[in-house]
Amino acid sequence: MGYFKLGKMTLKSLFKKPETLRYPYETRPSVDDLKGHIENDIIECTLCGICAKRCPTGCIEVDKAAESWTIDPFDCIQCRTCVRECPQNCLTMMPDYRKPATSKVVSITTKPEPTEEEKAEMARKEEERAARIKAAMEAKAAREKAKQEAADKAE
Ligand code: SF4
Ligand code: SF4
Repeated sequence: MGYFKLGKMTLKSLFKKPETLRYPYETRPSVDDLKGHIENDIIECTLCGICAKRCPTGCIEVDKAAESWTIDPFDCIQCRTCVRECPQNCLTMMPDYRKPATSKVVSITTKPEPTEEEKAEMARKEEERAARIKAAMEAKAAREKAKQEAADKAE
């Protein structure tokens, strides 16, 4: 009886559409909340390095000097720690798998060169910051001077 059932199943499967897909040529629609791969919105990233410090497999590298953020997708275990810990919310767990590769390559994202408007905006902010620091220092010096004059009068 067992052999009969098995034979029937085998015959059926010969004419049935296969259950498996020829990935990556064919893919299924991704399910909600699929742990696919990590992507960084580098424009928002401040290169603070928190994600690299928290990643349990050490697969993220942040190079402030080169303004680059690197991930080794082959070492990533899709735990989402980096996504949770990023203070800028610029990391996303994409709900699809990365394309298969024939060699182990890392993915490097580099900050784009700022545009002329962005450069002007950065210069303006830097000027504002310098002015705020100068004003705070002047106010502190004035407070200390007033304190000293009050102490001299009291003597
Ligand atoms: S934690 Fe976020 S902001 Fe900081 S380096 Fe990582 S991705 Fe960039
Ligand atoms: S998902 Fe986990 S393992 Fe992958 S990069 Fe983020 S912290 Fe590291």
